[in-house]
Amino acid sequence: MAKGYVVEPDVGFVRELQELGGDTLKKCYQCATCSVVCPISPENKPFPRKEMIWAQWGLKDKLICNPDIWLCHNCNDCSAYCPRGAKPGEVLAAARNYSFQYYAWPKFLGKALANKKSLPWLFAVPAAIFLFLIFLGYGKTGAEPGKIVFSKFLPVLYIDAVFIPTALFAIIAFALGLKRFLTDMNGGTMPPVGAMVKSLKNVLPVILRHDKFKECTENKNRYWGHLGILYGFLGLLIVTGLVFVMMDVFHMEDPFSLINPVKILANLSALALIGGLVVVLYNRWKTRETSGLGTYYDWLFLLVLLGVALTGIFAELMRLAGIGALAYLCYYLHLICVFFLFAYAPFSKFAHLAYRTTAMAYADYIGRELPVEESEVEEKSSEEESSKE
Ligand code: SF4
Ligand code: SF4
Repeated sequence: MAKGYVVEPDVGFVRELQELGGDTLKKCYQCATCSVVCPISPENKPFPRKEMIWAQWGLKDKLICNPDIWLCHNCNDCSAYCPRGAKPGEVLAAARNYSFQYYAWPKFLGKALANKKSLPWLFAVPAAIFLFLIFLGYGKTGAEPGKIVFSKFLPVLYIDAVFIPTALFAIIAFALGLKRFLTDMNGGTMPPVGAMVKSLKNVLPVILRHDKFKECTENKNRYWGHLGILYGFLGLLIVTGLVFVMMDVFHMEDPFSLINPVKILANLSALALIGGLVVVLYNRWKTRETSGLGTYYDWLFLLVLLGVALTGIFAELMRLAGIGALAYLCYYLHLICVFFLFAYAPFSKFAHLAYRTTAMAYADYIGRELPVEESEVEEKSSEEESSKE
């Protein structure tokens, strides 16, 4: 006789999922339409129907370490077809938010990023740090009157003193959270590092090409929105690294010319980021009836990203226009947004990038098959044809 499964519902977990954006989960009556219409769900143990019942029953242990919640790319095709308005796409998004909050280290930051009431002090920390440093350097930076130079407003050394430890902290926090996540997914032990690295190499091209986003049928332009955000962000990350080398290693002085390749890359990346964000925000608004407006996590992350891009562009425009007070104010706000983005990355929606990549690599490692794309089917059948000949 098959072994029984004792259901131990966690009512508190259900409530938390509802608060994190899955407030419609109780509407599900298990018709499985969502699993049928999902363009990327595998045939073997498809999602998101099973996740819906786990969420309703409060089966926290099954849900939060389940790689399938991360294989979902939140296209919301399932929500558009759900006959009960249970918004399975949003319920899975809530489960993901719970998951990285659960694995986060240190825990209090995970909880703080989930709580709207913590927002003022989360912003106040970088605001106070940079204000203190501006006063510390005031009068000692050799600033020339009438010239707007950001490195004279806040010396590069001071910025390094904040961002190098911040980056190290974020890397350590990510590493600890992801290790716990991987261990739980793998049933209590870490999968072999070599095999995971190999799987990571397999999934990286899929992520960089955004293949899974292309399969969305209800929000086709979502693909372009996410692509703009990803490459805009990667471009700005490269620019940050290059500027660090130019100023710290080669002691080059800012401001850089507008035709400097690094400056061109910075401006193009910022525009790609803003364009992508506008598409994603517009989509959210357009599909608000069927898919919901998104969670607090979604909006916080998108608005901080927008803040990074807009304050950066306005700081530059104000500098070019020669309006010192506004240029420095925008630069100060820019630093606060950048700090927020990176220091809190392991606890904000930014963490999706790392957790989804890890889950996709793990799915590859365990051989969890996702639907083969049409192009691959065509390639395979033509290969078979030619081998028959
Ligand atoms: S979420 Fe909607 S589509 Fe999916 S099983 Fe439940 S009722 Fe059916
Ligand atoms: S949101 Fe999209 S990817 Fe996620 S389960 Fe629904 S249909 Fe599938």
